[in-house]
Amino acid sequence: MRIFPLLLTALLGLAQAQSSGGLRIYVIDVEGGGATLVIAPSGQSMLIDSGSPGAASERDSTRIAEAMRAAGLTKIDDLFTTHYDGDHVGGAPAANAVAHFDRFFDHGEMDPKWEQNANGGARWEAYTAIAAGKRTIVNAGDTIPLAGVRVDVVASHGAVIAKPINGGGAKNAYCDAADVKPPNTTATSQSTGVLVSYREFTFLDVGDLTWDKETDLACPVNKLGRVSLLLATHHGFFNDQSGAPALLWAIQPQVVIANNGPRKGMAANAYERIQQIKGLEGLWQSHLALATDAAHNTSADMIANLEASADCKGHWIRVDVGSTGGYTVTNGRNNVSKTYRVR
Ligand SMILES: [Zn+2]
Ligand SMILES: [Zn+2]
Repeated sequence: MRIFPLLLTALLGLAQAQSSGGLRIYVIDVEGGGATLVIAPSGQSMLIDSGSPGAASERDSTRIAEAMRAAGLTKIDDLFTTHYDGDHVGGAPAANAVAHFDRFFDHGEMDPKWEQNANGGARWEAYTAIAAGKRTIVNAGDTIPLAGVRVDVVASHGAVIAKPINGGGAKNAYCDAADVKPPNTTATSQSTGVLVSYREFTFLDVGDLTWDKETDLACPVNKLGRVSLLLATHHGFFNDQSGAPALLWAIQPQVVIANNGPRKGMAANAYERIQQIKGLEGLWQSHLALATDAAHNTSADMIANLEASADCKGHWIRVDVGSTGGYTVTNGRNNVSKTYRVR
């Protein structure tokens, strides 16, 4: 009975995937890129971004596969790509080889009028080759079907939602003093992003959405309401291209996770801005930010990886959202966890 071990593995996987009884999120360490695995209570799953291209894609797809194993998944249903920078879509072919995506969601064609990072054309071709016939282009205001949770597309292809969601719509007092930045002219400004809602819990992941578009979401009214968990935009406000205070302080995330690299994102001013969020209860980081000091990193037990990339083990940060109004964040490196009550 050669089939039996396979069947057993599948059954165990199913049992594991169902045992959390809620929403589960893995922030996978891809060394300052994006790869966030969302598993709905139904067991349906979506990967938001797929890490980096080339040699790095082997590393990143191995880490995606490790997170799948930890979650008891043998495939991932959907790939949602925020934008076409290498650290978000470059790993898509390698990730597809381990995750076998059924559906692909993105913001639409790559338009040469937006400044691209190097090798954008090759990345685009590699992505469309695996996604052909399975793509859905999303617009701000769309919802993505993921059974058991609500997934609202809040920005896409340069536009943000027209109508407030999640109890938003109030005039935002932080707009008056907002640092306004001119419209961003890179392809990153076209990023799409989602608000994932499960019961009272909300998770915002807008990839590298640029400061000007964050401001559109926040001013003059805050269109997103308050969120429970924020994936710090742009790996922790990389080069100050994201992290607009008007949005950050209006949505008042209770917990922030930064998918920063050892030397990417989470500069000292990003750390300080996050600390100014009213009611912040926890900051977690994929990496110790090596270019700053201990005073500008969260406490070491809430950091998943302490080394430079060459020595990094690629530990994830997991979020388990239960059905009883609490959620727990766990550091994959040391199993340190903290439980928060959804506000
Ligand atoms: Zn990025
Ligand atoms: Zn790492």
